[in-house]
Amino acid sequence: MTIGTVYLIGAGPGDPGLITVRGMECLRKADVVVYDYLSNPALLREAPEAEHIYVGKRGSTHVLEQPDINDLLVAKAKEGKAIARLKGGDPFVFGRGGEEALHLKEHGIPFEVVPGVTAGVAAAAYAGIPVTHRGCTSSLGMLTGHEDPTKPESALDWARIAGSMGTLVFYMGVKNLPKVVDKLIEHGRPKDTPVALIQWGTMARQRTVVGTLGDIVEKTKGIEPPAITIVGEVVALREHLNWFETRPLFGKRVVVTRSREQASDLSAMLQGLGAEVMELPTIKLVPPDDFAPMDKAIEDIASFDWIIFASVNGVKSFFDRAMEIGKDIRDLAGPRICAIGPGTRAAAEAYHVRVDCQPPKYVAESVVDEFRKMEDMAGKSILIPRTDVGRRLLMEELEKMGAAITEVTAYRTLPETISPEALQDLLDNPPDFVTFTSSSTVRNFVECVGKKSLSQIAAGTRFISIGPITSKTAQELGICITAEAEESTIPALVAAVVRDASGKKP
Ligand code: SAH
Repeated sequence: MTIGTVYLIGAGPGDPGLITVRGMECLRKADVVVYDYLSNPALLREAPEAEHIYVGKRGSTHVLEQPDINDLLVAKAKEGKAIARLKGGDPFVFGRGGEEALHLKEHGIPFEVVPGVTAGVAAAAYAGIPVTHRGCTSSLGMLTGHEDPTKPESALDWARIAGSMGTLVFYMGVKNLPKVVDKLIEHGRPKDTPVALIQWGTMARQRTVVGTLGDIVEKTKGIEPPAITIVGEVVALREHLNWFETRPLFGKRVVVTRSREQASDLSAMLQGLGAEVMELPTIKLVPPDDFAPMDKAIEDIASFDWIIFASVNGVKSFFDRAMEIGKDIRDLAGPRICAIGPGTRAAAEAYHVRVDCQPPKYVAESVVDEFRKMEDMAGKSILIPRTDVGRRLLMEELEKMGAAITEVTAYRTLPETISPEALQDLLDNPPDFVTFTSSSTVRNFVECVGKKSLSQIAAGTRFISIGPITSKTAQELGICITAEAEESTIPALVAAVVRDASGKKP
């Protein structure tokens, strides 16, 4: 059997977007992912089929000691597996990556090192601190704060460190901070030298405390690792460059209840504004039990005057199925196309299908109004590929106008279950916001979380809805909606969260 390769990958400092392109490539092709406490577990989603082995800390102890981790890598490689060894930051910066690589070399295991964005530089950048700055600092020292500087065997030359290096970045330095500060002052760094301590850098829960060598110990009492300590004049630049912690949803925890497949746009927008997103899918979208009605509609497509799409997923399911049964856009000549909103329109356009009609408001009522204005619907034949749940208003109103409606199930909306761990996490860390994108997400959220737990989190949580129908469902179920999107789109929903967070009225 061929021996597998071990990829020693720098996972970056925490923000999952800060892994490198090469790191991501290696992660995606791995059979086994061996990961640490400080590598963001969100990255595991990139290798869903791989075996995931956690070897980091649990409390103050390690799940696996370093020699056991080394042996594990060798054993898995000998099974012929490709191994992604994910390490926080850069594998060779205070990461014991060198030890792992040496062990692999000794055992004849091929390995590749994928450098990562190290926390000392990245946490500083996310706190608005460039670790070097022209005219301010021309040297940079990266040090471990783990060693007790008062012990005689300390390997650090404090006189040189304090005297000659510009910016000092301390890793693992929370516990020893008082001793480090004393040493620097003792060896001549002025007491008013600026210092910053950045905890959980680059993540939504980043916290930065700024002070001086004289007062930082007092100011950071109670702060737990992981944190980076930056000492030097560059810290003063934060006053001007603090871009990350000033974003509108910084530090806010937001729950996304959409299905897993649909959540990413919304999550990315919220994250881009600084929110910590918790994806808690309450529904899942699955193919219909029986494709026959939709297949027949696709076969007869030329006989329809209109196709109305009421959701992005309706568009996707319809066109993907058409392709599967041997059709394509050439067969679509004839019917005109209506899309309920801009997302649905964009989905159709992605299949190179132009949309003829999109109502001003992105709700069924508005579609009805458009058709009422547009033409006499008597005798018109309309196809509506849709989900199996939800309101029937559109069909009923169009029928009243005399149209012949063919309604086919393009996909089904099923309740998703929430794992006990996710539910516990929700209760332990109540979110600032819960977003609802449809009535089904509200119903299933209530169902999944349960009335009792809901009342536990509801006190401090604000509930944001995509539109009037969703809000009404929420109210019926006893959930008080605090803000509603001005139009039923994802960007407007995000805007409603931002508005609510800032305390502004629409
Ligand atoms: N190889 C890693 C460092 C591992 S040592 C790297 O290159 O970044 C562990 C120390 O790194 C922690 O004690 C802390 O000082 C620092 N650290 C790692 N991630 C951090 C983060 N997101 N925010 C602040 N400090 C972090």
